[in-house]
Amino acid sequence: MTIAVDFDGTIVTHAYPAIGKPIPFAIETLKKLQREDMCQIILYTCREGQLLEDAVNYCKERGLEFYAVNAAFPEETPDMRISRKLDADVFIDDHNLGGLPDWGVIYQMIHSGQPLQPHVQNFGDEQKAPRKSFLERLFS
Ligand SMILES: [Mg+2]
Repeated sequence: MTIAVDFDGTIVTHAYPAIGKPIPFAIETLKKLQREDMCQIILYTCREGQLLEDAVNYCKERGLEFYAVNAAFPEETPDMRISRKLDADVFIDDHNLGGLPDWGVIYQMIHSGQPLQPHVQNFGDEQKAPRKSFLERLFS
């Protein structure tokens, strides 16, 4: 699966052209999707030049390296593009309809392959041992 992810407002809070504060679990979740779900992560941002490098380096310093940056694949150049729209299976962006879900929810939707399923709780399970929260399981 190829995932295109935005930077400002998605991986970090909005502070463009500076780099905002980390959004909790964004980088950890993307690394987990690369490592365990074999996802290809593309950085898809309006940043260019030095500001783009700043974003790429910010992520790299935290262990997140992208499959491609503002391109469908690493070798792609603008003249190779058939469409302005990036060829990705999923887009993660703070401008999503409905806003940016919690990164734990994002992981669950991608990992389960059921992005349109509501996240329901199981009621009537009071007799069972309490389940760990999703984030506790994700990073344990
Ligand atoms: Mg954004």
